[in-house]
Amino acid sequence: MARSIIIGAGMVGLATAWHLQEHGVSVTVVDRAGVAADASWGNAGWLAPGKTIPLADSSVWTYGPKALVDPNAALHIPLRMDPALWSFLARFAAHGTQRAWERAMAALAPINAIALECFDELRAGGVDAWTREGAFVIGFAAFRDARPFLREIEGVKRHGLPATLTRIERPADACPVLSDKVQLAYHLEGQRFIEPAAYLHALAESVVARGGVIRTDAEVTAVEGGQHPAALLADGSRLDADSVVVSTGAHLPRLTRRFGVRTRVQAGRGYSFTVATDEPVTRPLYLPKQRIACTPVQGRLRIAGTMEFRGADDPLQQRRIESIVNQARALLRGVDLDDRRDEWVGSRPVTPDGLPLVGATRAPGVYVGGGHGMWGIVLGPATGKLLARQIATGVVDPIIAPFDPLRG
Ligand SMILES: Cc1cc2nc3c(=O)[nH]c(=O)nc-3n(C[C@H](O)[C@H](O)[C@H](O)COP(=O)(O)OP(=O)(O)OC[C@H]3O[C@@H](n4cnc5c(N)ncnc54)[C@H](O)[C@@H]3O)c2cc1C
Repeated sequence: MARSIIIGAGMVGLATAWHLQEHGVSVTVVDRAGVAADASWGNAGWLAPGKTIPLADSSVWTYGPKALVDPNAALHIPLRMDPALWSFLARFAAHGTQRAWERAMAALAPINAIALECFDELRAGGVDAWTREGAFVIGFAAFRDARPFLREIEGVKRHGLPATLTRIERPADACPVLSDKVQLAYHLEGQRFIEPAAYLHALAESVVARGGVIRTDAEVTAVEGGQHPAALLADGSRLDADSVVVSTGAHLPRLTRRFGVRTRVQAGRGYSFTVATDEPVTRPLYLPKQRIACTPVQGRLRIAGTMEFRGADDPLQQRRIESIVNQARALLRGVDLDDRRDEWVGSRPVTPDGLPLVGATRAPGVYVGGGHGMWGIVLGPATGKLLARQIATGVVDPIIAPFDPLRG
């Protein structure tokens, strides 16, 4: 029986492990910290093909300068000398054109189109966790604030994805936490959401129930390819297999650079916390101008936002949480923003061109899966499915061909 080591127990690593099992491969998943230990924990849990778009667009040219000086800006870049970060930012900004957006969107649309059915497949295969349907509520304090969002939705539809918007007559009635400062609101149909940590643990349990091993005490320091692929652990031990999959999220470049994966993956750190609400909230809410995403989690409301380009292992910056609170205060009611739980920071794995890295490296037997930026939860199961097929059969599905990790 073929054996595979998967490094990283986030959405991408676990989904890849699950699908390798479908091909009869024996899997060991290793993580340095736990199941859903990084970005796959406190995220917004949106399975929203209508919002799964490239991160860089022409607005980076206005957001960028603000990000350096305005502590409340949704995008934050610490002002310090970090040549690697500045080189990433230069490449990222170079993709902030309409042409680059259309190119990236064309590459993302096919995987987006199969994203939701891949969740159904996991469910049918025994993953005991729900995905919930229901229109998302989108709110704006002013009519002019809606323009960039409406342009994005037009772009998504142009690429054939479902994103039906319906105007809501009385915004405050659409969602119990929307304040009367919100003048304009829409329902966005055709999307779903999950509770990320619960979902990831159910996926991990399914991998184990099918004979897989998950080790959450194992930091991988190096990977070997060729005739004897292996993961080398910090404790000096070595795990041999027929293939190794590196799915370490924002830490992805470290283990794979020497195998020709040159694309830089930068941590785009996001923050979240949960609050109690006076009335139950049953569906996600998005405030696009403030870039704040709210999702019901365990009877509370998770409020998530900001994009901070900083080291993946840097400590949580309390100032970023306060910035979300400041932005949200005027637009939300019936929530106590000062009584927060589960304050969290996680690192979105961001690539300059907005496309993930999925496929074989130059070293035989070594593969990568990751770099999905803002959308690794919704795209994780589809990625895992197609990457597992490539590992088990050698067939590169055209859907993941544009995500070749050896690209320029
Ligand atoms: C605030 C916020 C909101 C978001 N909202 C959404 C959303 O609504 N929908 C969506 O689709 N996406 C969302 N995302 C993005 C999504 O969370 C990520 O794209 C996704 O979780 C990445 O999954 P991953 O498996 O690639 O990486 P991760 O989940 O980061 O997993 C990587 C794992 O690798 C492990 N690891 C790293 N290095 C090593 C090593 N050397 N040895 C062993 N283990 C290692 C880590 O411990 C970690 O568990 C959001 C992100 C943030 C921050």
